[in-house]
Parts: sequence; C-alpha cells; structure tokens
Amino acid sequence: MRINDSKLIAAIGALGVEYKPGVSLAEKTSLGIGGTSDMLVIQNHDSLPELVRLLRESKAPYRFLGGGSNVLLPDGELPWVILQLARRDPDITFEGNSVLVDCAADLGRTVTTCAKHDLGGMEGLIGVPGTVGGALRMNAGAYGTQIGTHVREVRVFRGSTGRIEILRGPEINFEYRHTSFASDDIMLSVRLELPSKPYSEILQGIRICNEKRRASQPLNQKSAGCIFKNPPGGSAGRMIDELGLKGHHVGDARVSDRHANFFVNAGHATAADMLALIADVRKRVRERYGVELEEEVIVWKDA
Ligand SMILES: Cc1cc2nc3c(=O)[nH]c(=O)nc-3n(C[C@H](O)[C@H](O)[C@H](O)COP(=O)(O)OP(=O)(O)OC[C@H]3O[C@@H](n4cnc5c(N)ncnc54)[C@H](O)[C@@H]3O)c2cc1C
Repeated sequence: MRINDSKLIAAIGALGVEYKPGVSLAEKTSLGIGGTSDMLVIQNHDSLPELVRLLRESKAPYRFLGGGSNVLLPDGELPWVILQLARRDPDITFEGNSVLVDCAADLGRTVTTCAKHDLGGMEGLIGVPGTVGGALRMNAGAYGTQIGTHVREVRVFRGSTGRIEILRGPEINFEYRHTSFASDDIMLSVRLELPSKPYSEILQGIRICNEKRRASQPLNQKSAGCIFKNPPGGSAGRMIDELGLKGHHVGDARVSDRHANFFVNAGHATAADMLALIADVRKRVRERYGVELEEEVIVWKDA
C-alpha cells in the first residue's frame, strides 16, 4: 500500500520512524515471493503507540514483518503498510542467567551469543532463520527445543489497548507453532531465562543440530521451512513423500526433492503458484489419508 498523504508521512517522520516507499517485499522474504508496499521501520519502540494511532486515524491498514522466513506474501501491490523493527545495538544484554533480547535480533546470533556466555538450552534453534520476535510469535522449535520454554517476560505493544505492556511467561500460552499472543500484538523485547552450560558442550549441541539440518533440508534454495504443521502423531513430510510428490510443482513453486514438507521457489514462483501447490498437496493428502493439513507458513490474505 502506498501512503499518499504527505501530512501523514511528515507526522511519521517526526516520530523518528523511517519511511521507505515502494519496497520490493520478495527481497525481504526467504521464499523470495511478494509484491511491493511502503515500509515503516521503527527505530524507537516507544514511538509505536503513536505510529499505530496515526495509521488507524488515516485508515491505513498495516502488518508487521520480522525476518520474513515464515510468511507467504501476496503478489502485486499489498493492501497493507509494512512495519518492521530496526536492529538496535546492543540487542542482547546479560544479567546472570537472565538475557534481555530485542525482538529485531537475529535468532541464530542470539543462540551463539548466549553460548559464549555459557548459557544454553536453545541449541536446537540454531539454523532457524529470522528474528527473535518471529520466533516468539511462532513458538519456533526444532530438535526438542522451543523458544517458549525459556520465556520469562515479553514487552509487547498490544493492538487492543494501543499501549505497551509487559506479559509474564505464565500469562502466555506456547504450543506447537502457536502462541496466545493476539494477531495485532507486536513483540518488542523478551527476557529469557537460560540454564548455565559449558561453552564446549553447547557448541557440540549446535554442531549436531547443524549437521542434521544440512543432511535433511534444502538450505541452498528459497523456502519458508516446513509448509505444513505435522498432524498429531504424524509427519506431513512423510505423507507427502509417500504420495510420490517430491519434485511436484506448479510453475516454479516446487515440493523439495530433499524434504517433502519444504516447498521451494525454484525460480520465479508467484504467490498464486505457491498457493495452488499448497492446495493441491493438501487435497491429495486429504484424499489418501483423510488428514486435513494445516499451514505452518503464515499466509497473508487480503484484509
Ligand atoms: C530454511 C528454513 C528452516 C526453518 N526451520 C524451522 C524450524 O526448524 N523450526 C521452526 O519453528 N521454524 C523454522 N523455520 C520457519 C521460520 O524460520 C520461523 O518460524 C521463524 O521463527 C520466523 O521468524 P521471522 O522473524 O522470520 O518471522 P516472519 O516470517 O517475519 O513472521 C512470521 C509471523 O510472525 C509475525 N511476527 C514476526 N515478528 C513479530 C513481532 N516482533 N511481533 C509480532 N509478530 C511478529 C509476523 O507478522 C508473521 O505473522 C524455518 C524457515 C526456513 C526458511
């Protein structure tokens, strides 16, 4: 969406928010899919309540983007202004076993920086691309680890009240790739509580997880990780593989030859291609197994 109101652009600038017109969002996502939109980069978290108030007053719908590694954005001009947090320095601060992390921080770098402070528990998250905020929203997890386990409190802008609040860990429900944050909450920073562990031991865990990932995932291709959640007690990837669908494609949207639950953009795939592939695979799984697969990737649909 383009902001065509010069007064609004000036008011946004006065908040210290960076205005980037006509950004190509395909370049901001790991799938390499998405049209264009104006983007607003928030330098100071405290400006968010006023920024959202201005956007709402101007009837400008908005969406929040983290690292773009778990989203499928539409083609063409998007019907939303895109908000993103700017990277801050320092974005990680340590107080014993308690670690305060900015939600714009890179998740992988957070894991390795904590390791250097002899703080572990997040080894399984190495190799999960994206930001700490995106990981909180998704309750990102792998190899027996999930970020929610370590969350003590989150500083969050609440769309419902228009204010920044602190949520304590027990107030938040972390489930398999799902959390109780409201869809219009924007997570700003998180306090994690991590167990002490010798650096060498954490490093060993990180190496093992990296090797497992390299052995099973198409890491040199554009993807959003797993397209579907695993159904209770089952594996979406195994079912898709058993159906012989590796390499199956709609245009350049393709089921990975390496991991059947990774759908890759093998060239110039559009959102329409990827959505058609998702629908086709879901239908085939339903027909063969009677299982309705649920997307893990967040598909941004029209407002
Ligand atoms: C190669 C590859 C491997 C992957 N492996 C895994 C894996 O093992 N386990 C796993 O769980 N995931 C995996 N993923 C998926 C993805 O990396 C994670 O879901 C990641 O945590 C998403 O973070 P992000 O910052 O990129 O979020 P985005 O993709 O930018 O956003 C995802 C959703 O979260 C929302 N969001 C993002 N940041 C915030 C915030 N600060 N406040 C509020 N909402 C926010 C967005 O609005 C969007 O709805 C993988 C992806 C790839 C490409």
